[in-house]
Amino acid sequence: MNLPDKVYALAFGAHPDDVELSCGATLLKIIDEGHRVAVCDLTHGEMGTHGTPETRRVEALQAREIMGYAARDILDLGDSELFYTQENLNDIIRIVRAYRPDVVFCNPPEERHPDHVKASRLVHDACFYAGLRRIETSLDGTPQLPHRPRHLLYYIQFRQLEPDIIVDVSSTFEHSRKGVTAFGSQFYRNDQNDEPVTLINRKEFLTGLEARAHSLGEQIGAKYGEGFLLAGTLAVHEFSTVFLPVP
Ligand SMILES: [Zn+2]
Repeated sequence: MNLPDKVYALAFGAHPDDVELSCGATLLKIIDEGHRVAVCDLTHGEMGTHGTPETRRVEALQAREIMGYAARDILDLGDSELFYTQENLNDIIRIVRAYRPDVVFCNPPEERHPDHVKASRLVHDACFYAGLRRIETSLDGTPQLPHRPRHLLYYIQFRQLEPDIIVDVSSTFEHSRKGVTAFGSQFYRNDQNDEPVTLINRKEFLTGLEARAHSLGEQIGAKYGEGFLLAGTLAVHEFSTVFLPVP
């Protein structure tokens, strides 16, 4: 791995496509605002009903191109084996210290898929431990400096969690759908007649996601929205940049 440059936002997902499905439009918005974004998938998604680890890796890298991420790393922490071990924590700490993000996104703590819950805990704790200088890690033989991200945001997946904040993604939502459909092995296609039906490859799944983005957007007077839960309390340092005046 080459030593990467710092990014503003780093988004983790238990499986390739978690990030695009849940916060892709927000990541595009951040990129449009002139910041660098990286993504890290914790597994290859090798236990999924459809696609092989190799096809999912190729799809993840295609999605990176479409979305314009500065980097995408795919760790191999083991789909359905995403256990809370020191080794897995250290792998995530190493990524956090490598990219030195200000904001981290990850799976929510309450979810249908157990891997999402496990990923959430691992990333939450790794972000804390990454700031402790007595926990030593290195990358390509180079010792890493401690780094703790300023904000941790949980995106929303299957469970309809009540968001703490909703991001107006009206300008980027359509583009973000292209990042989702890069994962062609996972979602509905016209030629998939004989394949087993899963929750996410039903024809209705992607339209359901769009309906949710509409519904969240509705709550803030926007066409599309993506919702997030805050892992901590949001500190307001410059009041009028958070609570904008009426245009
Ligand atoms: Zn997933």
